[in-house]
Amino acid sequence: MHQRGGAPWVCSSATIYAGQPPSRPQVKILSVPECLFCAIAAGDVPATVVSSNPRTVAFRDVNPQAPVHVLVVPRAHHANLAELATAADDLLADLVAHAHEVALSEGIAASGYRVVFNTGPEAGQTVQHVHAHVLGGRPMTWPPG
Ligand code: 5GP
Ligand code: ZN
Repeated sequence: MHQRGGAPWVCSSATIYAGQPPSRPQVKILSVPECLFCAIAAGDVPATVVSSNPRTVAFRDVNPQAPVHVLVVPRAHHANLAELATAADDLLADLVAHAHEVALSEGIAASGYRVVFNTGPEAGQTVQHVHAHVLGGRPMTWPPG
C-alpha cells in the first residue's frame, strides 16, 4: 500500500482527531462535522472500503456508473481539487497514486480507466470533500456528458 514514510502533518486551522486522540499522535486529521466523506474516512459511516492508508481511503461508490467505480478521498478535509492542489503536503500526489493502486487491484489498469475530479457545480460535484472517481471495466465515450 502506498504510504508516505514519516512525519505527521499538522493542519494550520483547528484540528479534530478521528476517533479517540492517541496518546502519542502519529497522524492529525482535519475533519469537518456533517461532512459525509470525513465520516466515511473516519469509519463513522459505513462504506465498502477497498483499501486505505494513513492519508487516503478508497471505497466503492454507492451508485456505480461502471463495473468498477471507486472513490478515493483524503482523510483530511479539503472541499475540492482547487483546495487540494494548493495544499503543501503532497496529498494530491498521494491521492492520485492511490487511485492508480485501485486500478491495479481492481484489474482495470491494463484495459484502461478514468480518474475524474468533478469540481464545482457545472461539473456536477455533489459532495464537498474532494474525491477521485476511479472508473473502469467497460468502454467509455468522450466527451463526457
Ligand atoms: P460527485 O457528484 O460529488 O462528483 O460524486 C459524489 C459521489 O459520491 C457520487 O458518485 C455518489 O454516488 C457518491 N456517494 C454519495 N453518497 C454516498 C455514500 O453515502 N456512500 C458512498 N459510498 N458513495 C456515496
Ligand atoms: Zn470532509
